[in-house]
Amino acid sequence: MADKQFIIRLNGLEVGNHLYEFKVTDSFFETRDYSDIQGANVKVSVELLKQNSVINLTFTISGTLHVLCDRCVKPYDVEIDSVEKMHLRFGDPDEPHAEDVFVLPHGENELDISSPLFEFITLALPARLVPCEEDKNFKCDFETLNKLNDISVDEPEQKPENTTWDKLKNINFNNN
Ligand SMILES: [Zn+2]
Repeated sequence: MADKQFIIRLNGLEVGNHLYEFKVTDSFFETRDYSDIQGANVKVSVELLKQNSVINLTFTISGTLHVLCDRCVKPYDVEIDSVEKMHLRFGDPDEPHAEDVFVLPHGENELDISSPLFEFITLALPARLVPCEEDKNFKCDFETLNKLNDISVDEPEQKPENTTWDKLKNINFNNN
């Protein structure tokens, strides 16, 4: 699904440098099911250098992503700041080509950057989102955390016998 906002027109594009500005907001993530990102206020500058059959793009991505704490699901904002490059050339997309080159069919007159942009933004996000470990002023939502802990504590008690703990006790006993 092409998002019209993230289209770069290629027909009539002259050889040389071109600069594009994009804004990524909450709606960018609403249409994508599989994302930890709840929303965003991110500025994207795309520097495009067109040579004869090759186009090089440099994405400068900076702003705020709205995410949830991995531990207690409390919403918070994380700053991102990253630069990513993308290489394009015109040709036959079915022919073998270098992995980091994106091949556009001859005569293609627009480039939809929304998918690579989504990938770049996702890459810019830290792997673990636990703000209380990095920011002393951020306190996890203890109420939710306690509820989550209660659920995980209740569960083993319902198991009748032969829990891992029982097995460990047996091992110790045999060794003595
Ligand atoms: Zn938390």
